[in-house]
Amino acid sequence: MDLEKALQDAAARAARYQESMATRQVPPSSEALAGLSYFEQSMPEHGIEPEAILDELERYGAPATMATTGGRFFGFMVGGLHPSALVAKVMVAGWDQNSGLNILSPVNAKLEDVANLWLVEALGLPEGTAVGFVSGATSANITALATARHVVLERAGWNVAEQGLFGAPEVTVIVGAESHLSISKALMMLGMGSKRVVTVPVDNQGRMRADLLPSISGPTIVCTQAGNLNTGAFDPVGEICEKVAGTGAWVHVDAAFGMWAAASPALRHLTVGMERADSWATDGHKWLNTPYDNGMVFVRDRSALMNTMAGDAAYLVQGKNREPWLFTPTMSERARGLEVWATLRALGRTGLAEMVERHCRQAQRFAQGLRDAGYEILNDVVINQVLVSFGTPEQTRAVIARIQQDGRCWCAGTVWQERTTMRISIASWATTDEDVEISLQAMLDAARAVIG
Ligand SMILES: *Cc1c(COP(=O)(O)O)cnc(C)c1O
Repeated sequence: MDLEKALQDAAARAARYQESMATRQVPPSSEALAGLSYFEQSMPEHGIEPEAILDELERYGAPATMATTGGRFFGFMVGGLHPSALVAKVMVAGWDQNSGLNILSPVNAKLEDVANLWLVEALGLPEGTAVGFVSGATSANITALATARHVVLERAGWNVAEQGLFGAPEVTVIVGAESHLSISKALMMLGMGSKRVVTVPVDNQGRMRADLLPSISGPTIVCTQAGNLNTGAFDPVGEICEKVAGTGAWVHVDAAFGMWAAASPALRHLTVGMERADSWATDGHKWLNTPYDNGMVFVRDRSALMNTMAGDAAYLVQGKNREPWLFTPTMSERARGLEVWATLRALGRTGLAEMVERHCRQAQRFAQGLRDAGYEILNDVVINQVLVSFGTPEQTRAVIARIQQDGRCWCAGTVWQERTTMRISIASWATTDEDVEISLQAMLDAARAVIG
């Protein structure tokens, strides 16, 4: 095999795919989905050359993708892909580093350290905060809450790493009524129970009501949120930290995408006070536009994270070099820190702020365009999330179906405080103002076709 030629072929096809974003429909067509049956073959007796594999993937696979790396996908909360991050990923795919151990990938360990410093500074987190590079905000939440559990029980004289939870002092877990599913999942996996929580009511934007926080006694973990999945609203994290100060409670922030508002001088006011928390979870693959899968867990007390993740190896004397596996639940893993570094290197401080601010401005444009046409915007558009109602639940659902079928852009429905609504989430580096105008037109066309 001519490896260089094969890699060039792969890169050329990847570039063609990216270029097709400008003209292709966002969702896969029904023919593309039907075409997937091509892959229903029995395990082949013999292998084939890479070119033939790429042919099959390009012909039958590429059309059956959702075009999330383009500029007109606004569903769920899904990021795009920064082209420099893609290019770096393609090259380092050739290195295929096992990045759990320093000795297996000194370069990844070094770039994790550098990215750690850059992130802490860019996001305004306390100096010395540790970052673990994990697969997403779900695993970041699990890692942070495992650390929280370890520490609050340690303060109560209990070693959960060695003794487990049976017979342990009870841990009170406080969540907002709008906490993300991944928080319940983390609590479930950590033996703290997804339903065994004290739920604090939220306001009409989904923000936890700090004034309704219960009084704290005993080992306690408070799970807050920065960036509500629907409205984009931020819990008053600083106020909550103020209220629990001195109780020994651990405050965690699920900031899967909202975290990145802190990187913009214009939006930083939304995250003020967040730096007082003990741990934070965020995604790289959402608003930062790294490749999948990429998340980050931040813990103020570096040794707390390392001792929790070290398991039975806890308290071993540390070498002076970073050991990536001491910051995550896993050992062998992809060089995610390296990919985060490459994305930050590509954007720079200004590029990051510009991207985040552009998306927020584009969200305002969507909201204004829809409002001008007489449709109701259900949230205060504070960042990159817009909730719109096109009338009755049936009308809204029909408009969403029509938009998805039209394919110029793609949005999904959600239910916000009992209202059926369409959510527009803007988080792709590729989204231009022209994409916004095309997509707004598609939404208005769909609404007119349905409602008349
Ligand atoms: C997306 C999201 C998560 C889960 O992130 P994954 O990267 O999908 O694991 C958690 N919390 C919030 C607020 C989110 O928006």
